[in-house]
Amino acid sequence: MNIADSENVVSMLINSGDFEITNNINQTDVIIVNTCSVRKHAEDREESFIGNLKKLKIKNEELKIIILGCFAQNAKLELQKKFPFVDLIVGPLDYEYLAEILSNVFQRNISKNYKYLNLFNKVSVFVPIMTGCDNYCSYCIVPYVRGREKSRSLDEILDEIKNLLYKDIKEIVLIGQNVNSYKYIDKENSYIGFSELLKKIANLGVNKKFWIRFLTNHPKDMSYEIIKTIKDFPNVARHIHLPLQSGSNRILELMNRKYTVEKYKQIVNMIRDNIKDIAITTDLIVGFPTETEEDFKHTLQAVKDIRFDSAFVFKYSPREKTKATELKDDIPKEVKEERHYKILTLCDNIAYQINKSYINKIKDVLIHSYVNKNGNVILIGKTIENKTVEIFSDKKNFVGNFVKTKIVDVKFHTLVGEIVG
Ligand code: SAH
Ligand code: SF4
Repeated sequence: MNIADSENVVSMLINSGDFEITNNINQTDVIIVNTCSVRKHAEDREESFIGNLKKLKIKNEELKIIILGCFAQNAKLELQKKFPFVDLIVGPLDYEYLAEILSNVFQRNISKNYKYLNLFNKVSVFVPIMTGCDNYCSYCIVPYVRGREKSRSLDEILDEIKNLLYKDIKEIVLIGQNVNSYKYIDKENSYIGFSELLKKIANLGVNKKFWIRFLTNHPKDMSYEIIKTIKDFPNVARHIHLPLQSGSNRILELMNRKYTVEKYKQIVNMIRDNIKDIAITTDLIVGFPTETEEDFKHTLQAVKDIRFDSAFVFKYSPREKTKATELKDDIPKEVKEERHYKILTLCDNIAYQINKSYINKIKDVLIHSYVNKNGNVILIGKTIENKTVEIFSDKKNFVGNFVKTKIVDVKFHTLVGEIVG
């Protein structure tokens, strides 16, 4: 979401005609720092980065420093006090006025109706379909810093995607805190849910090959209609990111996640029974307040039973304002670290086993970029299951193309491929 917001702001500025991007932070006139506050660790890094900008401001008094994002929303006053040299602090709740705010700061006409410029030559572009979140998981700060859930209009989303396809973008990533709860009532008073939205977008691909990804999903909003739509459209990713968070029903209840492990497993079965070769990935939190060894064992067991293609594992970080702060953050740091390590090792091993089953398969790979390594060019791409593939090939012009690739090896999370056609 932050990447999409950053690209949005940069496109707005560049479209106004007076700005360009520089790679040199020492020579720039404007620095925009986009921040996150989902965990304390992110905030600590951001504070240290912003603190370091002071020396640039001393060298160049004209330099404008702007802080955006959830941290700006969460701690505006503290940031103002701590970093008085910062010119502007704006959080997501004020983004609807961002064009006006920036116009004031820069004394120029900066328009909200910008055109996406793809300044970084990306093959895959994020398209927000909604903002905010209404779920109030007890540990999570997002509803407080991003506001209520609001779905964007269908026409706006379709127009944006048509424009991206016209510009030859090959992959559209629909984003939102909870995409599968998308809901919109259109001009004809018909209800558009996430599966209808997916169908309409997938149908744009009749004359043009492109893939659609989406993240992230809440298990409570996963339905058969969505699964059926994914199944029916080969251009919709064979990948569902479905955060489980914990394998203990007691902890899930304390987290206010609104499902049990058994329900979660049923959803996974429904997905796997209907769609062959689909990757399922997840988020897990260890060390939530009161999490016992027994609770943790349930999470390990759930991971063993479900076998995720990959998992993001986080150590619980208490966030101000959230319900979970009423509970004491009682799991010692070392225990959180140990559980984090154990579960990550388990998830990595399972991912490796799953990825080995790709060997000898021929896959369509969308090439995103290339790197130079020890004098060789390596193309980096993704399969429709969102597996990263490295291909030794000097065909840099393949970036932005779908390439038939035989998987010949696996390096834990990365597949190694050879072009076959
Ligand atoms: N809306 C998304 C998640 C956004 S935050 C969703 O529900 O999937 C991404 C992940 O960060 C969450 O899934 C959760 O695993 C983790 N997270 C959020 N708040 C956290 C906290 N206070 N401590 C540790 N991890 C947290
Ligand atoms: Fe946070 Fe839960 Fe909303 Fe995700 S669904 S953003 S974890 S409150």
